[in-house]
Amino acid sequence: MVDYIADYLENIRDRRVYPSVQPGYLHKLLPKEAPQTPEKWDEIFKDVDEHIMPGLVHWQSPHMHAYFPALTSYPSIMGEMLSSALNVLCFTWASSPAGTELETIAMNWLGKLLGLPDCFLNEKNDSPGGGVIQTTASEATLVSLLAARTRALMELSKLNPEVQSAELLGHLICYCSDQAHSSVEKAGLIGLVRMRYIESDEHQSMRGDQLEKAIASDKEKGLVPFWVCATLGTTGSVAFDNLREIGQVCEKHGAWLHVDAAYAGSAFTCPEYRHWLDGVELADSFAFNPSKWLMVNFDCTAMWVKDSTALHRTFNVNPIYLRHENSGKAIDYMHWQIPLSRRFRALKLWFVLRNYGVSGIQKHIREGVRLAQKFEALVLADQRFEIPQPRNLGMVAFRLKGDNALTERLLKRLNARGYMHAVPACFKGIYVIRFTVTSSRTTNQDILDDWNEIKTVAKEILMDVFG
Ligand code: PLP
Repeated sequence: MVDYIADYLENIRDRRVYPSVQPGYLHKLLPKEAPQTPEKWDEIFKDVDEHIMPGLVHWQSPHMHAYFPALTSYPSIMGEMLSSALNVLCFTWASSPAGTELETIAMNWLGKLLGLPDCFLNEKNDSPGGGVIQTTASEATLVSLLAARTRALMELSKLNPEVQSAELLGHLICYCSDQAHSSVEKAGLIGLVRMRYIESDEHQSMRGDQLEKAIASDKEKGLVPFWVCATLGTTGSVAFDNLREIGQVCEKHGAWLHVDAAYAGSAFTCPEYRHWLDGVELADSFAFNPSKWLMVNFDCTAMWVKDSTALHRTFNVNPIYLRHENSGKAIDYMHWQIPLSRRFRALKLWFVLRNYGVSGIQKHIREGVRLAQKFEALVLADQRFEIPQPRNLGMVAFRLKGDNALTERLLKRLNARGYMHAVPACFKGIYVIRFTVTSSRTTNQDILDDWNEIKTVAKEILMDVFG
């Protein structure tokens, strides 16, 4: 398996990145029932090579430009392998002390590497803040919203002791930008709270004055603003909400501020990108995905909170079988999340931090940005194309000048050819192709090859349309 993995990753460039299969293809190729008797590995692997591999999108390929990166790396894979073999569950300190303590240590290291303020770290026994590894950014957003909801309901109950929580819930309202990820909307749906979308400015950024206006008008209607989600690095265009302005509004109105930096968080390992973090000390929670750009394979979402008691109040159930003699003296991460059981994910994060070191991680991020700048320069030099929003970090959103339909056709044909893979975004009616530099294996030549592919297909489309 180790050889298979190494061969796969080292030769990934040779694979067609996007499969050419149709729904149901695998059902036709595999038996309808599990085998009665054990099968040999050779037979199983033959099916992997012949049937599974051709139906995958090869996310580690340098020609994969869709979504955001979901990178892996050898130290991360080794962490995952060891963690799989150990299969310890780290729900309480007692269920695996080193699992819990390594998570706290790795999250402190990572928090410092990002330049987060000390209030998010957990370096002393009585620190109220700290980091925890959640499964996804969606889950971190939900955890934050639920903790803020509990805090708000407790405060409202004190003022209205005779009113039921279910009724008080109807008064709560939370906010995010119209550019926020769909997982924020989903958190509101699950949390049964109203969500208001703040119109972003011309740079797709949520600003304090718009938020203030919305909150003031909602308060006049008797609503209670309790949670705001700011995005650093939006999915559509890697835009940044103005954290300081938003933080000041949240502080004024007593709303919990959550920061979703799912993709861009990895870039804060480099000091030159930390200006976007200005005001982070005003946040109550902050999350990003090392499982995107930091080469820690999925799943791994780093989440920090200023005050973990807000999580405890929301998620603390304490049956006798989970209590231990050090309860209360050590962190029990089961109180910081929705499920009970949790994997030993700190191992792969710790392996990556140690094996790359700060310098290796910064080099990786800067190389991703450099390659995106290279692609941006190629696009800008071609009169047929445009980049409607300025590039930030490793993603370039570009389009053919003219009707959206041209760019839609371009993307459809590129994906059908399978040499490179990208997905679209649309801001304020303008359809673009998102070109994200994902792979740590991407070279200058890969960028040139993809640009040539794009130019070839664009030429065909422009010929089809304009002759
Ligand atoms: N937030 C932002 C800004 C994202 O771009 C994404 C996904 O790309 C998410 C949240 C959701 O991440 P996850 O899949 O970890 O829930």
